[in-house]
Amino acid sequence: MKPPAFDYIRPPDLDELLVTFTDGDVLLAGGQSLLPELNERRRLPPRLIDLNGVAQLGGCEIGPDRVVLGALTRHQELVDRADLRAAVPVLSRAAEHVGHAAVRTRGTLGGSIANADPAAELPGVCVLLEASAVLRSPTGGRTALVTELLQAGGLRDREVIIAIELPRLAPAEGWGFRELSRPGAYAFPVVTVSATLRLASDGTVAGLRAAVTGAAPSPYALGSAAAALLTGAPSDDWIDAVAARLATTADPVDDLYASAAYRRRIVRHLAHQALVDARRRALPAVA
Ligand SMILES: Cc1cc2nc3c(=O)[nH]c(=O)nc-3n(C[C@H](O)[C@H](O)[C@H](O)COP(=O)(O)OP(=O)(O)OC[C@H]3O[C@@H](n4cnc5c(N)ncnc54)[C@H](O)[C@@H]3O)c2cc1C
Repeated sequence: MKPPAFDYIRPPDLDELLVTFTDGDVLLAGGQSLLPELNERRRLPPRLIDLNGVAQLGGCEIGPDRVVLGALTRHQELVDRADLRAAVPVLSRAAEHVGHAAVRTRGTLGGSIANADPAAELPGVCVLLEASAVLRSPTGGRTALVTELLQAGGLRDREVIIAIELPRLAPAEGWGFRELSRPGAYAFPVVTVSATLRLASDGTVAGLRAAVTGAAPSPYALGSAAAALLTGAPSDDWIDAVAARLATTADPVDDLYASAAYRRRIVRHLAHQALVDARRRALPAVA
């Protein structure tokens, strides 16, 4: 099927975009989620506003502590750029798992967050790292945690994601990303788990983050529960305890691809693998 006719504009900058953006308009970024929805006539917008001419939505800044990624950052750029990979390796690894090369070449970080699929890889890493979204609308602007946006079910009326801000990983911080995906070329994730681990000089756990997608209405993280898990060295038993905690926190549902019980089991399994990877990458710093 093909979409019904719609109007199309491509504003040259952010001011023009915000002046033009009216109720009913739909933003077009990489089109990798939107165009299939139009083709299947699940969405029937009267007009598309193409973001790809808006320079303020592009570019990446890598600072000493933080990384700011324009909303139009393509998934493949996260994979290919060595400076981004050095700053946020867990995001680059997650991006490798998104779809196939054509999808990664067009699809954007801002589009992935706005699309808010509960299993998607990149929103999960944003939740892991407590990333913030810089947002503008014709009536103002705000900065919001990606976690809060996703829990709230998405963006407010006529909001545009301008950029995503997230912390760099510390040089000695270990990380892991594991995914179970659907078979076939589509390869959309069923469940993903991402984790970071920082060790003190005596080898005890000094910092821990973990996040899960595909096992609750929106991605969730260990968050403040991590503080109680900062005890001793990252032994296999410790990793089992963290993985069990993540699985207990899950709130999965049965669907076409996996039962709720299976998703919960997979969370535990992938969390174990992601934490083992993170430990392996963190250990050389204290060796
Ligand atoms: C075959 C195939 C396989 C895929 N596999 C995966 C996968 O494994 N994992 C995965 O996560 N995704 C997958 N995707 C989806 C892909 O990652 C999309 O790129 C992403 O979900 C949306 O990004 P986009 O830039 O294409 O957004 P679009 O499709 O252009 O837009 C998606 C939605 O976001 C809104 N939007 C876009 N940008 C902004 C912005 N800056 N501000 C506000 N709203 C905005 C649009 O209005 C629209 O509602 C797959 C897609 C295909 C076709």
